[in-house]
Amino acid sequence: MIERISTPSRTKEIIEANAFYFKKNFGQNFLIDSNILENIAACAQVTKDDCVLEIGPGIGSLTQVLAEHAKEVIAIEIDNSLIPILSQTLAPYDNIEIRNQDILKTDINAIIQEKNNDKPIKVVANLPYYITTPIIMDLLENERNVESITVMVQKEVAERMQAGPKEKEYGALSIAVQYYCDAHLDMIVQPSCFMPRPKVASAVITLRVLPQRKVKTADEALFFHVVKCAFAQRRKTLVNCLDHQGNLGLTKEEIGMILQGLGWDVRIRGEALSIADFARLTDAILAAQQAKV
Ligand code: SAM
Repeated sequence: MIERISTPSRTKEIIEANAFYFKKNFGQNFLIDSNILENIAACAQVTKDDCVLEIGPGIGSLTQVLAEHAKEVIAIEIDNSLIPILSQTLAPYDNIEIRNQDILKTDINAIIQEKNNDKPIKVVANLPYYITTPIIMDLLENERNVESITVMVQKEVAERMQAGPKEKEYGALSIAVQYYCDAHLDMIVQPSCFMPRPKVASAVITLRVLPQRKVKTADEALFFHVVKCAFAQRRKTLVNCLDHQGNLGLTKEEIGMILQGLGWDVRIRGEALSIADFARLTDAILAAQQAKV
């Protein structure tokens, strides 16, 4: 087996030999625990049939493990000072392609078409935490051709992604993620597994993209607008949130009647509604709007 990049001593050696310094603004916390890296590849169920997209390879610790399990790994790294380091550390592997790009400006579907004959790929990453939500939402909302997303994120964000109604962490992110995916929290990872240590605990979560949306709604944009309004001020009732922020073209009384028509108490809060409830609410709002025209 080729020497692990991820041991604390090897990571330190690579960093010092290349006079590399960690950039906080790029969310650089490198994994230094080989067991965690193997577990991430196992959670992602990476096999020799898979083409994997890695976001932010750093010095290549996760990339190395993924390359040993996958057919091919495409890794997108924004920090150009890491590119010469990656070409050294990953030199023994011929199934890795490194691209020096910002993931948020990368045409992911073009990569999938070029590298995987347009078959869905797996995304695996220890994400830069400052852009976790934009990355996940870009993958989901823009219908990237992705089968699953296995990522290390802040523990609190992972909990939000998989929370259900009435849970403290339940919110717009939970609904957005669960509208497109089944979410599974794989493991909690302590700060001591990273160099430098982040201030918060982390978690690995796997999102398996569903073949169809979890619920049907007549207007997807309105659905997400309603969800966003419902959680904008958590302590307010749903009717007040929709009245103040919704700009729905309906009076407060009309919104109240819609809620009652759905069999809900008029004092209900957004946090009590499931994804299916939000779809029913959206369709009822749409019908009321259309009836007014
Ligand atoms: N995969 C490595 C590991 O596990 O040790 C490094 C993970 S580190 C948390 C995040 C990585 O993402 C860093 O290498 C950072 O430079 C890179 N990064 C940050 N913003 C990025 C962006 N917009 N596009 C691509 N890579 C980015």
